[in-house]
Amino acid sequence: MISNLGAMRVENVKENLIFSLDVWPETGVSCDFALSPSVILPYLTAGEEDLGEVPNILTSLRGHLDLQLAGKRLLVKGNFAVKTEMMCSRCLSNFIGKVGDTIDEVVELGRGETLSPDEDPESFIAVRDGKFDLSPLIAELFWLSWPVRAICRPDCKGLCPGCGANLNDGTCLCHETKVTRH
Ligand SMILES: [Zn+2]
Ligand SMILES: [Zn+2]
Repeated sequence: MISNLGAMRVENVKENLIFSLDVWPETGVSCDFALSPSVILPYLTAGEEDLGEVPNILTSLRGHLDLQLAGKRLLVKGNFAVKTEMMCSRCLSNFIGKVGDTIDEVVELGRGETLSPDEDPESFIAVRDGKFDLSPLIAELFWLSWPVRAICRPDCKGLCPGCGANLNDGTCLCHETKVTRH
């Protein structure tokens, strides 16, 4: 039988980041995940970066997590990646870029407490009914890995300072005038 590894792995992929402490194995928890944008979007609106609006995420957010519990501390290692629309800081046009990073975090699990808005989800995760949700943490890491200066392509020519034309689309009139003066 010819097996498709990619298709087989789908069965073990988590579609949320809710974990239960009631069935926590001593060896820790390891899983792949694929979150639909709707799982992560509610947490992205509270992002620290002032990007104006919620990003248009184009794929499910995929990654891997290795979780180890040490007392109330949870060691979170893994990675994540997602394709999203972003704006080029040179030519100001929208393009499809990738946001992703490795994950190496230590968070504190608070039993029974609720997470208030001013508490940093990077360092504190609430536990309710024996369960905790790492979606706020991943949302935080999503913003942290968002490029400070996104570029649509390495050789983006940007906008003409004279007329504002997108120079990737061709030469503007200002540049043509300069050339003909030579
Ligand atoms: Zn550009
Ligand atoms: Zn111009």
